[in-house]
Order: sequence, then C-alpha cells, then structure tokens
Amino acid sequence: MEVYNFGAGPATMPKQVIQQIRKDLPSYQGSGMSIMEISHRSKIFEEIIGTAEKDLRELLKIPNNYQVLFFQGGCTQQFTAAPLNLGKKYHRIALLDSGHWATRAGIEARLVGMDVDVLASSKESNYTKLPIIKKKPADTYDYLHITTNNTIEGTAYSKLPDVGKLTLVGDMSSNFLGQQYNINDFGEVMAGAQKNLGIAGLTIVIVRNDLLSNNENLPSMLDYQVFAKNKSMFNTPPVFAIYVAGLVLKWVKSQGGLVEMEKRNQTKSNLLYDFLDHSELFTAPVIKSDRSLTNVVFITGNQKVDQDLISQAASKGLLNIKGHRLVGGMRASLYNSMPLTGVERLVDFLEKFEKNQRG
Ligand code: PLP
Repeated sequence: MEVYNFGAGPATMPKQVIQQIRKDLPSYQGSGMSIMEISHRSKIFEEIIGTAEKDLRELLKIPNNYQVLFFQGGCTQQFTAAPLNLGKKYHRIALLDSGHWATRAGIEARLVGMDVDVLASSKESNYTKLPIIKKKPADTYDYLHITTNNTIEGTAYSKLPDVGKLTLVGDMSSNFLGQQYNINDFGEVMAGAQKNLGIAGLTIVIVRNDLLSNNENLPSMLDYQVFAKNKSMFNTPPVFAIYVAGLVLKWVKSQGGLVEMEKRNQTKSNLLYDFLDHSELFTAPVIKSDRSLTNVVFITGNQKVDQDLISQAASKGLLNIKGHRLVGGMRASLYNSMPLTGVERLVDFLEKFEKNQRG
C-alpha cells in the first residue's frame, strides 16, 4: 500500500532524496566514509555546504548583501537570536499575532528584554484569518515579526503587509521554498529545515548585512556576526542535516524551482479546498484570501467523527492528518514533496467517508 505522510513536520521527503541518502550512507562519493562520518572541516563538507548555499541563493534569488547562515536549535532558537541581534536600537519590536508561532516569538523576545507590541491580532476569530494592521506602524521598532505561513492555523501571507520603512523579519518555516517571496522585502528570514528543506536539526537564517550586530557581549552561538565570519562553522554544524538540505535543494532545482513548487502547491491545495468547500460534512474554517497552500485545516465539528476519520485514513495509508492539539480537527500538510496523487487519494477517501456518514 502506498503511504502518504501529511504530517506538519518532520514531514514527507522527496523519494529521490531518500534513495540518494541510501547510496551515500555506506561510502560518500567513494571516500570509504559514510556521509555520517564526514568531518565538517573536510574538503568534502566544504563542498557540500558551499553548494547548498549556492543553490539556495539561486533558488530564492538571495541578493549578495544578505548572509545565509546555518544554525542548529530550531526556529525557536531564532525567536531568541533575532531580537538579540536586531533589537539593538530601540529594544522594541512589533509583532503581528497570527497564531501560536507568532505568539511564541513574542514570548521569547520578551524573555531577552525586548518590549513587544502586538500591532494586530486575529485571536478573536480563532486565527481563521490574518491580522490586519489598521494604521501605519511607528518607526520606533527594531523590526516587525511575522509568520509567513501559520503551520497550525492554516493561514499564509500571499501578499506581505505594508509595513512602511520598518524592517520585516519573517518566520518562513512552513512555506520556505514552497511559495515565492522577495527576499529584499525582509531584513531577516528564518526557517526550520524539517518541512521543505529536509530534516530536523538545521535552521536557515538569511539576514541583511547591515543588520549584523557588533555586540561582543552576545553569546557566540546566537550571534549572527560570529556565524557569518565563521561561515556557519563556529562549532560543529549539523553536518548530516546540511547534506540532506543540499540534496533537497538539488531536487527542487531539478523539478523547476520555486515557480514550479508554488504552482504545484497551488494545484494540490485548490483540489482539497475545493472539495472541502463543496462538502456538507467538512468545513475549511480559514477565509479564502488567507488560506495556506501548505497546511490545510478542516473540521467536522464532531470530535468522535474526527477521530474515526483520522484512524480510518491511517488504515488506508493516509497518515498524520490529525489537527494540531491547539486547533483540533484535521490538517493535511502539502509540502513540496507531497505528490498530487497523495492529495487525490485523500480527497477520494474524504468523499467516500462523507458518503458513508450519510448512510
Ligand atoms: N515557526 C513555525 C511557523 C513552525 O511551524 C515551527 C514548528 O513547527 C516553529 C516555528 C518552531 O520550529 P522548531 O521546532 O524548529 O523550533
């Protein structure tokens, strides 16, 4: 039985990448060493990380005045690092509260002494839409933090909010490489790898040069300047995760790059949303204009039915469609490596389930 993993992350990976990893596991490129054994100071790894950065720059059209940094610690660690590095003038940051991960970013920033102003929140509508800034924000913020794709709530910015001259920091964890954005619109982009860039253990930071701190008191492991100077090898980087990211980037390139990824994600999510919008049993609660291409949230309003659905789906090889515990219901994550056939199978299953419910 063909299995499709709709989990939100760690998430499904391209089959070709897994095959390549299998090949590289016993001996990487004839070196006699497994890819797991390669030193981060070796020529072999220099080539791996250098090529990964080059491919990422090409795919995202990253301008030369931006650094690409490879971190461990997850995107959560960047909720601490970003304010420490960028929050140096006003010690004050702005936030658009679009859900759980935006809230978390605010909490972590406060923990390192930032004032955090929530400029807009969509909490009252259960985050089924994006928060809207009503008036032009003040200039006296070091930056404005947004979550470009809200993994749990299923919303995404297809058009960025107008923030005037403010520096925009984007947590792009769940639509990194899955939807096109202009890096120039951001001062910093942060993204965990375990959705569209491979496996857990690696976080990408793309940051404009003028935002790098010169504060020698920052802990080295959180200091963008230290990582930039040391080409992300201040200490041992997550070698295997960077190697996997390199393979994923090659795969994205071979498939037609971000234009093609976004097109496919649009097709896949349209198929599912279209079904949900015509269904009598299921509802997609997010307003149409704000819907995520990658995390499709849907509900029946009946917990028992949801549970039944989730377990029946699993028995048919449609795995991990349980919604996040904060939201309930179901969520299908349609990352880059989820093929259209997976979504077709899911829609087919949901259709049959609905028919059976009606008796
Ligand atoms: N931001 C978003 C949008 C996420 O989806 C997640 C995790 O799923 C995080 C941040 C936290 O990432 P990590 O678990 O890598 O720290």
